[in-house]
Amino acid sequence: MIPFQYVKPSKQKAAIDTVAKDDTAMFIAGGTNLVDLMKRGIMNPEKLVDINKLPLRKIEKEDGHVRIGALALNGAVAEDKLILEKHPLLSQALNAGASAQLRNMATVGGNIMQRTRCNYFYDTNLPCNKREPGSGCGALQGFNRMHAIFGHSDKCIAVNPSDMNVALVALDAVVLVSGPKGDRRIPFAEFHRLPGDTPQIHTNLQKGELITAVDIPEHPYTKHVNYLKVRDRTSYAFALVSVAAALDLDGSNIKSARLAMGGVAHKPWRLQEAEQFLAGKPATEASFRQAAEIAMRGAKAFEHNQFKLKLGPNTIVQALKNAAAAV
Ligand SMILES: Cc1cc2nc3c(=O)[nH]c(=O)nc-3n(C[C@H](O)[C@H](O)[C@H](O)COP(=O)(O)OP(=O)(O)OC[C@H]3O[C@@H](n4cnc5c(N)ncnc54)[C@H](O)[C@@H]3O)c2cc1C
Repeated sequence: MIPFQYVKPSKQKAAIDTVAKDDTAMFIAGGTNLVDLMKRGIMNPEKLVDINKLPLRKIEKEDGHVRIGALALNGAVAEDKLILEKHPLLSQALNAGASAQLRNMATVGGNIMQRTRCNYFYDTNLPCNKREPGSGCGALQGFNRMHAIFGHSDKCIAVNPSDMNVALVALDAVVLVSGPKGDRRIPFAEFHRLPGDTPQIHTNLQKGELITAVDIPEHPYTKHVNYLKVRDRTSYAFALVSVAAALDLDGSNIKSARLAMGGVAHKPWRLQEAEQFLAGKPATEASFRQAAEIAMRGAKAFEHNQFKLKLGPNTIVQALKNAAAAV
């Protein structure tokens, strides 16, 4: 770990200006991802700007949406009364992540920004275009069991590891950011990037931009929801495949659906064609199976993650069944 400076401003503008003006400066929130990356020499900021004094922790109902501050803790959001009532899918996704201790340190902004768990990214002795552009992708011909089946490139096949992000993309969340050039709103589906030729850039956040909050618009998905995460052990492990499913039902017919997957792409993977297929169909296993087939179109696996081509659709079907049966 290299020596670094540490500052803890109480004004948002000071935090943003410090990171915007210094190429080696980074924000730190809970530190549960960044400190690990620093200890391993994967990220080497020379200045850490601790944002924990900024007033960004509130979870509030506003006109047409719920606003969650970027510093709200993952555990606090998951247990919040308003979130449980309006966005139970988000609560389920958060509770599927990490451990209770980590959820009580990790923030919403940090979770959105967390880096991939690809072993080749984490091992500085191995090639990784994401960590060291131009060095190659070790996973492509290597041990790629955890890796992407959608949207990958010949430069990178890593996946986004967040559970929360899968629920937020399904719920059409919007990320609020503030930067040296002012404020802007980024639809969640446009926040993270596919790897293409520049896998080292994992989001569309610009230098110095601070995530201040996330807005989740009102929607009818307050009951028939399920976040289903399949992993090697039932806690404290990242998803092999996960599915966020939400249904708006009229009796046993589907009025509308929301569907997204995790553990399968460089960004949380929204399944809009499958959602459109489900609208107006009966909530039966046959409909769910057809939706899953549509969802898996275009999937391409590698040597060690062929199992995701079966696990993916089976997880979609089971998540939809669980959502339909939720009381
Ligand atoms: C052992 C272990 C198991 C885990 N398991 C899971 C799991 O199963 N599922 C899951 O989803 N996650 C899991 N996690 C990841 C965990 O959720 C993240 O580490 C956490 O959400 C990061 O939040 P943080 O506040 O600690 O971020 P930090 O570590 O403080 O920051 C992470 C990154 O975000 C940036 N950042 C932070 N806040 C902002 C902001 N407001 N604006 C702009 N940039 C910002 C930082 O500069 C840094 O680049 C696990 C982590 C560990 C260590």
